[in-house]
Order: sequence, then structure tokens, then C-alpha cells
Amino acid sequence: MKKTSKKNGFKKFWRLGLEDFNTQNFDIGVDDELIVREGNYQYNVYDIIKKYGTPTEIVFPTVMENRVRDLIDTFNAYIKISGYKGRFYYHYAMKANQTKEFVLPAVAEGANLDVASANELFLVKRMIEQDKFNAKIRVICNGPKTEKYISLIEELRGKGLIVVPIIEDYLELERLKKFKGEVGIRVDLEIKVKAHWDKRYNRFGFSESELLKIGKIRNLSTLHYHISKQIETIDGFVKPLERALALFQQMKEKNPNLDTLDIGGGAGVPFEKKKHFYTGKSLIRQIVNTAKTECDKLGLKHPNLIVEWGSYVAAPAQITIYKILAQKDVSEKNKKKWYVIDGSFMNDLLDTWAIHQKWHVTPVNHLRAKRLQQVWLAGSSCDSDDRYTSGGGYISLPCFEDCDDLYIAVYDTGAYQDALASHHCLLSSPAKLIAQNGEIKIARKRENPEDVGKIFGW
Ligand SMILES: *Cc1c(COP(=O)(O)O)cnc(C)c1O
Repeated sequence: MKKTSKKNGFKKFWRLGLEDFNTQNFDIGVDDELIVREGNYQYNVYDIIKKYGTPTEIVFPTVMENRVRDLIDTFNAYIKISGYKGRFYYHYAMKANQTKEFVLPAVAEGANLDVASANELFLVKRMIEQDKFNAKIRVICNGPKTEKYISLIEELRGKGLIVVPIIEDYLELERLKKFKGEVGIRVDLEIKVKAHWDKRYNRFGFSESELLKIGKIRNLSTLHYHISKQIETIDGFVKPLERALALFQQMKEKNPNLDTLDIGGGAGVPFEKKKHFYTGKSLIRQIVNTAKTECDKLGLKHPNLIVEWGSYVAAPAQITIYKILAQKDVSEKNKKKWYVIDGSFMNDLLDTWAIHQKWHVTPVNHLRAKRLQQVWLAGSSCDSDDRYTSGGGYISLPCFEDCDDLYIAVYDTGAYQDALASHHCLLSSPAKLIAQNGEIKIARKRENPEDVGKIFGW
């Protein structure tokens, strides 16, 4: 057991209130409980879960709004400062989170969209039918183009939407020859960067030499690439950008209407809040400066720039709350304890299991606890993989014996986890609450046994 070092350093100890770690809206209230600020309003997370129970996800659409607005403003500011002549388009990668309370705030702040499937594009169609869109919005279509997907692309184009399919293979190239609107094409750049996903073989897109061999492509406006998610250094953006611009220039010889470079997703989030991580501002500055310098070196007309950042805007807009149900010794020799949560990492935060995602975890109450315990977290399924051990390290939490009840918050859970969620051991999915304008709305009730049984035909 370890004593918290500083008497008044609890906020710092839990990494709350820090802009660099996206925790600037979080604070500790007078009752030692977790507080989230939205402008001058504040939510007490403990009060919320006392009322609505756990496990629960809390979505903050205002965070999504602020991040999208900042991103667009920052790109436009550096474009102006550097004298870059191309335009900037932000496309929110819907696959990061398709929940209405994520997508609509992004669109409201000026985001265009990037969809990954026919079903995501179907949601765009729904929004158009509900008159929710400015007709100037642009939609980029990634992912394998099934016939259903292409028909929907054609249908929406017919309705006046700017919808740009990204060609990923020869079949799509052939099929989209008849497409009347602009198209993009994806390159698998011969470059590897330090990132979560840096597999040797990338099955998406064409090689650089294939693209040069193909030569002229009808209505080609956009060259696209996507390297990875959670790219770890700014260099991981700069190097591919330089390489893509050189290719862009060569492709432009046969495709004079090629005028846009789409650099995909991959902007990272400081999930762990331990080490220094690049800020969005410095990343954007270096992207714009690299594009400017490189184009001028090549004598290339500055292309329009697109980014499709998903996690970057969505992850910090949600937290997930669990109750600690019990504690157990890890082993006789190990002083760590298991804390068992009333939800599941394998189900609700599946990337913990799939890609060993790291999370920041703090208590929701007892934030000024005197005694702390080194903890591994265990999910409620009967699967030994259902755990979060912070990569073999530990999570510090208040001593279980000292607390009448104890809840924890997992931060930055807004990207990918909901769409990946599952029902191992038929556990219920968490409730989903929306916290906006000082009010709490239930977006999804916690599943009851009937709901879960139904999914399996009962
Ligand atoms: C997944 C994906 C994105 C979003 O990636 P993030 O790492 O969440 O920013 C963008 N573009 C494409 C093509 C993708 O597959």
C-alpha cells in the first residue's frame, strides 16, 4: 500500500485538469467526487451513477463539438499563416463512433463525413431525408464496395450529394468507370511508421507502381492513403506525406484534375496520460508546413488537404463507469489485488483484449483517499482474458476496505468500443447517457435479460 505523496496534489496525481491529456474538463469536487465541466455547468459523476446505476457510458457531445471546431480552426489558421494555397476539408471517420450524439455535433461544427460501409452511408441517407444536411457536405466512401454500397453511392449522388468513392482494387476500378461523379484512389505507400498497426502487408489500396501503371483514371480528384490508427510520432505523419506528394505529382501528369490529397486517420490520443504525447496543434502545424515546403520544392500546385481523424475527436468524448464489486489477492506472493468490476473489458471495452489498448482509470468517488492499493482489474465474465492489468503494471485505486462503495471511471472510451461491443457470457451492455447543456438523457437503457435473450433467439 502506498500513500498519496502530496496532500493537495490529488488532482495532479489522477491527471485531471490537464489540457495536454484531454482531461481539462475534469476536476475533484468538495465531496472528493469526480466532476466534469461543460462551460460553466458541472456534472457530478457520482450523483449521476447513483441515479442511473452502473455499468454506464457517459457521452459528452460538447467535447466532440469543441474538438472538431478546434481541429478545423487550427488547420485553417496554419494554412493562412504558411501561405498554403489549397483548401482544408475535415471528414469525420464515422466508424470511430456512429452514435447520433457523436455524428451530429461533428456535422454541426462543419465536419464532412467518411463512411466505411453501405450501412454507414445509409445513415447519411437518413440524415438527408430528415433535412439534417447542408447540401454542400462531402462524403468520402472507404471500405470494400459491394454492389449495394455502390448503388447507394449512385443514388445519393443522384440526389445532389457530393459523394466520393475511394477505389481500392481493380474490380472497383472497373465498376466505377461508369460513375459520373469524382472518384478517389487509395495507395498503399511503401513506408512504415511507428504506430499501433504497422503490419508488413497492407491489403488496402494499390501499390505506388501499380498506380503509375494504371495511368489515367476517369474523374480522379483525390489521392488517398491511411497508414494506421494511433500513430505515435509526428514523424509518422510527415514521412508518408512527403512520399505521397511526390507520387501525387507523378500521377498528376496523366490526371490533370487530381487536386486533393487525403491523408486518412491516425491522429493519436494520450490514452495513458503518463508520458509526453504530441498535441493536435503541433501535429497540424507540421502537416501544413510539410505540405507547403514539399509542394514548393516539387513545384507542385498546393493540393486541397483532407484528414479523416476519428479517434482523435471521438475518444475523449466518452467515459465508462463501473462499480467495484469485490477484491481478491492476485497471489500469495504478489501484493497486488484484483478488483472485480460490474462490467466486462471483453464486452464493453473490447480493444483491451483485442489490441491491448491502454486506458487511464481513476476513482469516481474517494478521490482524496489516503491509502491506495495497486490493482489489476477483472471483468465480470467467466473468462480469464477479461481483465485490464495496464500491461502488467498496475492501476492505483483507493483501498477497498476504506470505502463504503467504490466506482471507477475509464477515460477516452468514445472511439470504436461501442461498435465492437459483444455479449460474452450474455452480460448486459452498459447504459448510455448523454450529458449536454446541463441535462442527462438516456440514449440506451441498460439491457435486461429479455433484451439479451432476444438477440440469441429466445
Ligand atoms: C479507421 C479509418 C480512419 C479513422 O482512423 P482513426 O485512427 O480513428 O483516426 C480514417 N480513414 C480510414 C480509411 C480508416 O479506415
